[in-house]
Amino acid sequence: MTDSLRRFLEAAENKQVLGAYMTVCSRPDAAVRYINMFLMRLFGRCGGCGTCVSCKKVAEGHVDILRLHAPKAAELRDALAFAAEKPYEGAYKAIVITDADGMTPAASNSLLKTLEEPPAGVVFILSVRSISGVPPTVASRCAIVAVAPEPDARTAIARTLNVDGTQAAILADLSGGFIEEAARINADAALLNRRDDILSLSHKMLYIKGMAVSTFADYLESGKEIITAQLGMMQTYFRDILVYQKTRNDTLVINRDRLEDIRRAADDFTSGAISNMIKVILDTERRFFVAVNFRLTIEKMLFCMLEERNKWKKS
Ligand SMILES: [Zn+2]
Repeated sequence: MTDSLRRFLEAAENKQVLGAYMTVCSRPDAAVRYINMFLMRLFGRCGGCGTCVSCKKVAEGHVDILRLHAPKAAELRDALAFAAEKPYEGAYKAIVITDADGMTPAASNSLLKTLEEPPAGVVFILSVRSISGVPPTVASRCAIVAVAPEPDARTAIARTLNVDGTQAAILADLSGGFIEEAARINADAALLNRRDDILSLSHKMLYIKGMAVSTFADYLESGKEIITAQLGMMQTYFRDILVYQKTRNDTLVINRDRLEDIRRAADDFTSGAISNMIKVILDTERRFFVAVNFRLTIEKMLFCMLEERNKWKKS
């Protein structure tokens, strides 16, 4: 945990918060978890236990917390009206703006004055991937909270969660190196099963002739709300094949429980095919940042990948 993140959480615990914070994190989902920890500490007297009535309200919807996603200027005006009213329940109100680096300049500008002097008891929390994504005038009015993964995530995860090296590598990858997230995933059997299924489907896609794209698409659609995580699982799998092709080194493979499949694919496909497939997945992930037709986008990805397979499979 970085110093700024520790100070951020302590401030909430001690109820001595500033008017505006900006979390900076390459994994916005990880930042949101820390923001929730902050809010649970601030709104409750439990230190942020995560299970009491107050914490549940924070997680599921609290009257004094407004959450916005890359808001437009009009939404921000409503938010400022919300901030101007007294809290309904406790002593605080919070406005959380995720993807704040996706705001238009007009929207950012409408925030400036309020960020400078937020009403008493109001906390703004902006979440961005990169500080360069917002105007310096906005960033300079916020306390910057760096949310970064553990430097040696695998070792830290193996030690903290008491898991073996294989599981630690998988958890480090799925969590982006965030220990709390790794702990949550380790206890989430449904998500780990989903990973298993996705890796099996990815392998089948390489080997089963005439595999129906709709089967894979149906599966991905059944986890639509975590599509980024699902595409991440696919990406890691194909990266493993590429890494093994180039190095023949087992220890560099992340999905070590799939070593046999990975070795086989490394022998059967050209590195061009595999890197093109990875590129297709990455492009698709980017497409989901804006509203797209889920089904069409996923099917297009799978068809492109199959095309690569058919073009490049070594005979
Ligand atoms: Zn609690």
